[in-house]
Amino acid sequence: MTLAKLPPQPKLENCSLEFQYEIHERRKTQNRQWAIASIVYSLGCIAFIAVPSLNSITKTLWRTAQLPTTDSMKSVAVLNYSKDPDFTKPIQKGDVILGYEVTSGFGKRVAPISGASEDHKGIDLATPEGTPLYVIGNVESKDGFTGYGDVFCDNNLFGTNKEGVAAYVKVPNFPDLEFVYWHLKSCISGRLAVGSKFAETGNTGNSSGAHLHFGVRVVGDWAALNFKSEWQHPTTGVLRWSLEGKEPQKVANKSTVEKLRNAIAGQESNHDSKAVNPHSNALGYGQVMPENIKSWTKQCLGEELTEAEFLANKSKQITVIDCKLKEALEEVGQTTTDEDLKVRKVASIWYSGDPSLYDNPRPQTYGTGSYPSIREYTLQVLDRYKKQ
Ligand SMILES: [Zn+2]
Repeated sequence: MTLAKLPPQPKLENCSLEFQYEIHERRKTQNRQWAIASIVYSLGCIAFIAVPSLNSITKTLWRTAQLPTTDSMKSVAVLNYSKDPDFTKPIQKGDVILGYEVTSGFGKRVAPISGASEDHKGIDLATPEGTPLYVIGNVESKDGFTGYGDVFCDNNLFGTNKEGVAAYVKVPNFPDLEFVYWHLKSCISGRLAVGSKFAETGNTGNSSGAHLHFGVRVVGDWAALNFKSEWQHPTTGVLRWSLEGKEPQKVANKSTVEKLRNAIAGQESNHDSKAVNPHSNALGYGQVMPENIKSWTKQCLGEELTEAEFLANKSKQITVIDCKLKEALEEVGQTTTDEDLKVRKVASIWYSGDPSLYDNPRPQTYGTGSYPSIREYTLQVLDRYKKQ
């Protein structure tokens, strides 16, 4: 990867109306920092023009641009994006994130170089030079507009050499926020796919050693005609996302698996570890199909059990069920972050082998037995899951 050059200044009139409006606002506020955010968007301006629906919205925006912006048009800060506690946990000095220590926290501190007191706008993470950074955001989205992030790299834009090589990233998942990465070794500007590498951490600018300065700024939501610029205390989840290239998953902790196991066992066998299905011969607490017993016990217990041995040992059944549920949770975690959907998709895997059938309404039969549709089954499992 090479150092990014400053992109050419786009002609304002070639940009989207949305971007032009942004510039207009920035000029009005005469805030130098805003110019950076504007240039971030300039990278996306051609793409914006290509989206007709957005373009029509921006035309309306432009027409109403003379309206004063007011604080009553409040936008929603979106750092509470996920239920994962990581996303609401402010990063503190001394935290260790993915093995890297947080050497400086957010807010008032004594500046490491000048020694003067300053307001630290982000946090510092002791990453070695060359640590990759990835565009955060979801590939899957309802609005059809995510999947990309706008990255603007600048190298000493204002000549202060404070930030060194810096990246400013906007992603549709967090429309109010701008993510800021300073002291980079390298950076790639442009509209990049989420999960792709856009930079490597370094030791450029006013930096007393290799580290990443990470900041989060609330810049407001254009659609709500709400503009602002406030530094926010960064949280662990978004930083982890930047470092890992995928949304930090809740570790499939015991209670999630336990709740799923209880829900499925209730549905399958009414919690009877000796139950045998008269039509399919499915066995035990989780009603495991006989043809799966050998491979699943080998995989999860390290020993192949016979059907009779499996049926006779409840705790081994539970170990096997938990092991397969964990596997299923990991699989569905790749496709959705919605908690309810995860449970239903795992239930669908358990019932049909296929997570995508979770909402299939067709009644199921096995031999002469008739069974609930996959939709009914997964809804019932979800209901049982939620009652715990
Ligand atoms: Zn810093």
